[in-house]
Amino acid sequence: MKIICIGRNYSAHISELKNEKPEEPVIFLKPDTSILLKKQPFFIPDFSNDVHYEVEILVKINRVGKYIEEQYAHKYYNEIGLGIDFTARDLQQKLKDKGLPWEKAKGFDGAAVIGEKWIDKNSFSHLNNINFSLLKNNEPVQTGNTSDMLWKIDEIISYVSKYFTLKIGDIIFTGTPEGVGKVEVNDVLTGRIEEDQLFSIQVK
Ligand code: ZN
Repeated sequence: MKIICIGRNYSAHISELKNEKPEEPVIFLKPDTSILLKKQPFFIPDFSNDVHYEVEILVKINRVGKYIEEQYAHKYYNEIGLGIDFTARDLQQKLKDKGLPWEKAKGFDGAAVIGEKWIDKNSFSHLNNINFSLLKNNEPVQTGNTSDMLWKIDEIISYVSKYFTLKIGDIIFTGTPEGVGKVEVNDVLTGRIEEDQLFSIQVK
């Protein structure tokens, strides 16, 4: 399986990192080895002093597809999840400054948190109006709503599938809203969609 991530998909987050608003979705991949194993803590890697959490809505692909038209994109997923795109911000900044790929800053072991629990998409009244949040030590640090996405789920699937064949089990990280920040040892990060808790992880 592969993990496809969308960068810069929420205006307020683009502003907080002083990035330019993209004309097309920004795409990067994480290797399957970046998935944080079940019930394991997240260990801050020694090559970074500034690892950030980025809470993101996830989409699990359940059908093989390429060149998927937006109007049919909804047939390619049933479940919505929540995760964290951990980012070594200091390393990412160095790579960005040099115009180099970000993979080391976003694809390291443990950098992809995928909540164990998934929610049937039909249980939402509208996929473009889902509230989600990240709590750090029980304090909300990020709150988002999918209505603020620059590219909505079906547009993302259509766009991504022009470049990569989507396969069963692939997971799309759809971008983070504002409020990203640094993690510290002993932090507990809890992710929620509406009032439902989808993950809770310990930082070491
Ligand atoms: Zn992200």
